[in-house]
Amino acid sequence: MCSHDCPDSCGVLVTVDGTGRAVKVQGDPGHPVTQGFLCGKVAKYLDRVYAPERVLYPLKRKSGVAKGPLKRGEEHKAFERVSWDEALDSIAERLRAVAEEFGPESILPYSYAGTIGQLGYGSMDRRFFHRLGASQLDRTICSEAGGEAWKLVYGKKLGTPPEDYALAKLVVAWGANIHGNNVHLWPMIEQARRAGGRLIVIDPYRTRTAALADWHIAIRPGTDGALALGMMRVILNEGLEDRAFIAERTHGFEGLAERVKEYTPARVAEWTGMTAAEIEGLAREYATTWPTALRVNYGLQRTEYGGEAMRTIAMLPALTGAWKHRGGGGGLSLSGAFEWDEDALRRPDLAMASPLKRLARTVNMCELGEALEERGSGVSGLGSGRVEGTVTEGPGTTGPRALDCPPVKALFVYNSNPGAVAPDQNAVRRGLARTDLFTVVHEQFFNDTTDYADYVLPATTFLEHTDIQGAYGHYYVGLSEQAIEPPGEARSNVWLFGQLGQRMGFEEACFRDTPEEMVKQALGIGTDGHSQNPGMEHITLEDLKERGHIPLAFHRNALIGHSGSEPFLPYAGEKLATPSGKIEFDSEVLKARGSDGLPRFKPPTESRWGEDAKRYPLEFLSRKADNYMNSTFANLDGHRKMEAQTNQRLEMHPADAAARGIGEGDAVRIWNDRGEMRLTAMLNAHLPAGVVAGKLDWGKMNADGANVNALTSQRLTDIGAGATFYSTLVEVGKG
Ligand code: SF4
Repeated sequence: MCSHDCPDSCGVLVTVDGTGRAVKVQGDPGHPVTQGFLCGKVAKYLDRVYAPERVLYPLKRKSGVAKGPLKRGEEHKAFERVSWDEALDSIAERLRAVAEEFGPESILPYSYAGTIGQLGYGSMDRRFFHRLGASQLDRTICSEAGGEAWKLVYGKKLGTPPEDYALAKLVVAWGANIHGNNVHLWPMIEQARRAGGRLIVIDPYRTRTAALADWHIAIRPGTDGALALGMMRVILNEGLEDRAFIAERTHGFEGLAERVKEYTPARVAEWTGMTAAEIEGLAREYATTWPTALRVNYGLQRTEYGGEAMRTIAMLPALTGAWKHRGGGGGLSLSGAFEWDEDALRRPDLAMASPLKRLARTVNMCELGEALEERGSGVSGLGSGRVEGTVTEGPGTTGPRALDCPPVKALFVYNSNPGAVAPDQNAVRRGLARTDLFTVVHEQFFNDTTDYADYVLPATTFLEHTDIQGAYGHYYVGLSEQAIEPPGEARSNVWLFGQLGQRMGFEEACFRDTPEEMVKQALGIGTDGHSQNPGMEHITLEDLKERGHIPLAFHRNALIGHSGSEPFLPYAGEKLATPSGKIEFDSEVLKARGSDGLPRFKPPTESRWGEDAKRYPLEFLSRKADNYMNSTFANLDGHRKMEAQTNQRLEMHPADAAARGIGEGDAVRIWNDRGEMRLTAMLNAHLPAGVVAGKLDWGKMNADGANVNALTSQRLTDIGAGATFYSTLVEVGKG
């Protein structure tokens, strides 16, 4: 299975020659969603696995070499090779000393979805940090605002199976660059279009999906919620809602109907940049076409009120009853279908054996800059107060908020490159450069974060370790078996944290578990050899080894063409995991938190409507590359070539460029109070006026070492405490 952070979770076949070298990777033709092809990123995967620049041995910073940006290709000069034994012993000793002097919560793990395998993403690492008493990390940087919002409406993240999109007569891709980063849904969309279906894309940026659409709506960033409310008003005004579905399956309709009256097409047009007629036309087409699938993705929730925007959009298929039709409905993520035994994998109960004897405080990963800044506590107001897993016995079963906790003195980075991807890059780098901060980075390549590491440890790719995973874009469990030996001395997360646990003297047997034992734990394999996890009861490890992937139980019975199959219609039948048991237009959870349960629109503070727009009038989209995975792959020449057109470019509407005397190809400076960067202007009339776009890249690929996150802020989203990358104001000038 490809373990990169992508909804498709492809089945991958690896051909290995007689010397143990992988010579070919291809999509598994037997996987119903992979359908035998891989995306452009992973089709070239052996370039990554065998890249000459791979970090292959444990490295220690040479004495006297200061932390800070290192020239690409010369990073190794700052480090010396050490043995794993020496590295592990020294790291364990230093962590022990930090914990004794400042308390274990002064140690902060930092990781995200560099791998989404269950073992690689969160298993032995969590055991280690729980047992140590290290701070917990609130992993909100990507999807938490939208995910939480979706759950407020539906209780669980489910959606239309990708195979069923082929039946849709209308697909609305809202903030969803399907062709760029969910490409295995594309064949289903093509099939739908061949049968007369239409594709509408709503996205401020003309992605390659938008360029292929029947209608591209270039909405202004941060105004998606307004559009959804305006569509609802049109739908209700014209009586296009599904009253029977609403009465049977939803909660809070009367309040919603009242609320949306405020959102006239004319008013919504002012926010979104669309015309009133376009808003009406979109609403009518959406509400009168069956089946209609609304594929919404995470970009739009990385705005200040992105949670509320997602919550509002999520209500649309409930208003029109789209969930009743096979091929209708849509979705954000299907990950809620995979009920792994996470407590068995992550062992939050080990926190009770830590010196804290409770779960540790949480630090929000979007506020890393603030957490690391050298100002006494360095932890003011951090953390959402949420903790991972549950501990049901003993004192202090919930961790405190970050307040009154010690400063961060040790940082352990894996599965992430915060030097490039974390918001407010200058604050992050100031923190990383602290001489009193001990930093360990487990990585495959030298990057913007390893430049600040005391130790760099070599990490495996998904070809080099065993894992198990589900998907957020389909309903198959997949076993990812190790295909090749790791090159050099690269080691997996499971191995690394198991070894460190043992060297810290943790006596619990779980620090010696093998990957296969942990796969069984994730699956909840019982004495009869079958999984005990809901929806996985038919799965055994032996079957998975034989077949590679197995559909979840409900999906197995719902596949198109399966004899006697009942279609899987998420949210159309069962009682939901919301307080009312129904789809919630009026959120009981939000009301219990003291806020209005009904959706509303508010423009972001950093937008053309905000006070700061007087000084920084342009809205900045720090967009993602189609051929990178966030910052992953951005160092490989083949991948960079595929992105050549927009590398180091700032895309601007011609009117904004002309107003600043900027022409195509001019050097430009982009700045705000947080930082600046320099790029080359590229005129793009498809962008909304007032919006500029730059691509996320490694800072060290740019001459001035800065990337788009030099401009983004640590402000958090309204729901889920996520990152607000796309609520950023800037000014641009020649320079
Ligand atoms: S990145 Fe996505 S599309 Fe590409 S191979 Fe991996 S799972 Fe498949």
